[in-house]
Amino acid sequence: MAMKTECCALCHAETDVTEETPSYERKNYIDTAGQLCPECYSFVAANKEWHNLL
Ligand SMILES: [Zn+2]
Repeated sequence: MAMKTECCALCHAETDVTEETPSYERKNYIDTAGQLCPECYSFVAANKEWHNLL
């Protein structure tokens, strides 16, 4: 069974997190935003006003 991976909520790049991964086991996951790629996550982590970008 092929594992489908999540896309970044900001830039839509494919991540290596599968859809079956629970949120508490995910890297680069933000409750209110969803799955992010490492690039966007580090951007968001450095910029707490990230939600103003959406
Ligand atoms: Zn991204």
